[in-house]
Amino acid sequence: MALRFGCNTLYPHGRLPREETAFDLAAHRESLALIRSCGFDGCEFSHYQHLKPEEQTALRATCAELGLMPSSAHSWVPLPGAVANVAVALPRLHASLEGAARLGVSVMVLHSAGGEAEDRRNALGQTLRDLAPAAAKAGITLAIENCSSRADLEFLIATVDALALPAVGFNIDTGHAVLHGMTPAEAIRLMGHRLATTHLQDNFGKRDDHLPPGKGTIDWVATRDALLEVRYQGMFMVEISDCPPEREPLPREDTQAAHDFLHKLFGIRA
Ligand SMILES: [Zn+2]
Repeated sequence: MALRFGCNTLYPHGRLPREETAFDLAAHRESLALIRSCGFDGCEFSHYQHLKPEEQTALRATCAELGLMPSSAHSWVPLPGAVANVAVALPRLHASLEGAARLGVSVMVLHSAGGEAEDRRNALGQTLRDLAPAAAKAGITLAIENCSSRADLEFLIATVDALALPAVGFNIDTGHAVLHGMTPAEAIRLMGHRLATTHLQDNFGKRDDHLPPGKGTIDWVATRDALLEVRYQGMFMVEISDCPPEREPLPREDTQAAHDFLHKLFGIRA
């Protein structure tokens, strides 16, 4: 199977204004056209939840027109870390899932809130037993992102494995891995066959910079080798930011740099 590469929707006008609604339908369309023009095959929707349902459906059509695969959507509603928060979180998570389905993606990325272990395990169980069947029905895999330590990731993997639910996997965020004392390759091997998508992003081991791969100090050859070793079949998704450190954002330059670096890394000629 041909390798496929994707990039998250970055605010095409530079830094995303404080009010997320500025990233409207027109700005999303510009962002998708930019991603496609840089040579990417697919996209992740980073900020989609404020869009109207008909706008989310329209973006799916825009992707089809551009020949861009809508691959994933990033929900900003975390999986609750305490049973007391499940009732509030569930309707919001279902709304995120419905939006993701309208966009036509096959993966929804989720963070997982921390908590006391037993309470958190129960909260994850209650939430995922409710959400995962709905996701499976919509053809969407839930991908839990590594946002903390190796112990946290091992806890999440053990919890998910014990639940044995359909449509639940993981998302490797390479930048988060190094900030929490792991190499991306270690985190990828821990996730193994559960790996559903990626957030390929770089930093210097100090801050969560979300730089294009190759612009920081992550070992990308080792990261690539781990992805190939676990036989990852999904899209190689980049997650860069609209607020790079100590400079103005450069949406086109950063998107193109990410694309060109990954193609070279995987030995694909332009
Ligand atoms: Zn991420």
